[in-house]
This record gives sequence, C-alpha cells and structure tokens, in this order.
Amino acid sequence: MHYIDLRSDTVTRPTAAMRAIMAAAPVGDDVFGDDPTINALEQRVAKFSGKADAILCSSGTQSNLLGLLSHCQRGEEYLVGQEYHTYRYEAGGAAVLGGIVPQPFEVQSDGTLDLNLVEQRIKPDDPHFPITRVLALENTHTGKVIPQSYMQKARELVNRHGLQLHLDGARIANAAVATGSSVAELGQPFDSVSICFSKGLGAPVGSLLCGSEALIAKARRWRKMLGGGMRQAGILAAAIDHSIEHHVERLAEDHANAAQLADLLQDIDAIRVEPQHTNMVYLNLPDTDTAKALADHLMAQQIRVPASQRMRLVTHLDVTAGDIATVSSAIHEFFARRG
Ligand SMILES: *Cc1c(COP(=O)(O)O)cnc(C)c1O
Repeated sequence: MHYIDLRSDTVTRPTAAMRAIMAAAPVGDDVFGDDPTINALEQRVAKFSGKADAILCSSGTQSNLLGLLSHCQRGEEYLVGQEYHTYRYEAGGAAVLGGIVPQPFEVQSDGTLDLNLVEQRIKPDDPHFPITRVLALENTHTGKVIPQSYMQKARELVNRHGLQLHLDGARIANAAVATGSSVAELGQPFDSVSICFSKGLGAPVGSLLCGSEALIAKARRWRKMLGGGMRQAGILAAAIDHSIEHHVERLAEDHANAAQLADLLQDIDAIRVEPQHTNMVYLNLPDTDTAKALADHLMAQQIRVPASQRMRLVTHLDVTAGDIATVSSAIHEFFARRG
C-alpha cells in the first residue's frame, strides 16, 4: 500500500540506488577504526560541516548528547530553548546521563532566543551556581531558517564569556539549500554541529557530530560508554554518503512542494495556514475534533497526517508534486463536505 506520509521527514525509505550502494560497501570493525566506509564518511562530513573531525552516531539525540557530554562536566550548565530538541525531545538525557543542568529560555516567534536575556542568565563564578558552559541553538527550528547574523551575535556572546556554542543542525542542509549558503558557512560560528541524515536526506539511520579533533576524541569515548560503538556499520555510512551525493540539492523540491501546499490551502476559511518555512507547513484547525476527523478522512485515502489541532505537514524525498495536488484535493473535499 502506498501512503503519502506527511507526518515527518523521518519516514523516508532508502531508494533502490541507496540500497545497492549499501550492499556493496566495504566494511570493517569500526571500534578498531577499521571500517573504510565510515572513516571516509567521517572525513567527508567533517569537510561538509567545515570542522576538523566528525563521528557517526545512531541518531540526532545521540549526537546532541555526545556534544553536550563532550563540552560539559557534571554540575555544568547549558543554555537552551524551551522548545529546542536538545531540551524538550531528548528525554532529559544531558541531565540524566551527564549531570548537566539545563537553563531553558522561551523561543521567540522567529525561532531565536533573546540573547540579552541569555547573557543575563549566565551564572557568575560562585559556589551557589552551576558553571555555565554551553549555549545550544537549533537550525532549522520548526522549519524556520535562523538568520546567520543572529548566529554571529551568539558567537560574540559566547566569546565574551568563554562559553562553547553547539548547533543542533538536524536540518541544517535544509537551511543551507534555502539560503544558498553552504553547510560549512552556516556551521562556522559553532564549536560543534550535529547533522541528521535520516530526515529529508533519506538515509535509514544516522547523524554525525562535527567539531575539533579534541572534541570528537572525547565524543568517541562517550559514544562507546553509551553503547554506541558500532562494528561493520559501513553499510549505514554508505547510505549517508549517498544521501550527501544525491539528496542535498533536491531539498529545494521539498521546499517548493511545501510552499505549493501552503498556497493551495489558503482559500479554506476553516484553516489558518502559517507561512511555510523550508519543508514544513503548519495548519491551525478550529478544534481537535476537526483535526481528528480530517486525519481520519485523509487516512482513508492513504494520506497520513498527525491528528493535532496545529497540524504539522512535512514534505520530503518520498512526496512528489503530484502528491501535493492529491493532498490538497482531499483536504478541500473534507471541508466542502462539512459546508
Ligand atoms: C529529529 C531531530 C533531532 C534528532 O532526532 P533523532 O530522532 O534522535 O535522530 C534533533 N534535533 C531536531 C531539531 C530534530 O528535528
């Protein structure tokens, strides 16, 4: 059964070409440093991100965690957005596993933090307080590209206070394609960058943490401790390599498809469509019952969406321009029937 799945860009399946590359990949024991495909990928992604080194991780949650664990000791603090993935969606791993204290901030409507407030909350050197160590940002956030001028200001702030700057760049490739910048340019202000390849880029598994050689050496020890030392994982590295080669530039199609979907739904009075950003469209529906009924109606036509009142629709590798037209018609049909 073919579904049009707009719940997330994590639902992409490896293409036939990707599977063929995976099957043919030379492999070795990566804990011994023997997997040539992983070694080559880590060097490639280091260059891609503009950093000296990189490490393959099982997920973005793991690569963010390794970043925080490598920057912070127990009893140290990271400054972060309340709605950022590293605070809200990683089960508190930094605190649970690292004894790292979060200091969350409200995220502003453009996806940034109020840097004046961030600066005020940096703790003075006093035994009452945790030691502030890292500012953790995110790009894209809910699909929004964060302006690079803000990232530069954040860099100046951390420089003034001797802090580290981490980027959860799960979808940084979307930001790069949307702005016409390279990932390395967007990553430049940061000491560490986490990049997901299992979202719009279409690999089945994997994120990489990028940073200095010293930072990545620390991350390698933490990864082993967390049970993340993989053996012949070159088959996964091959998929990621393929995604960099073939699936970065085409993210522009996902952005165009999202823009098209947002545009097609504008004329439905019952929906307030938020301005589309990169590969995400948010629909505000009248209430949760309508959201549930709409999700059921779409599911009956093999279209999967989350049944939430503020409904996030995500375009990706497995969604075509034709699918967008199909989804738009199905949503129009639902509201036409309700009158
Ligand atoms: C998906 C995502 C991650 C990582 O999620 P995993 O499922 O652990 O790979 C990190 N940050 C953001 C913003 C994400 O969207």
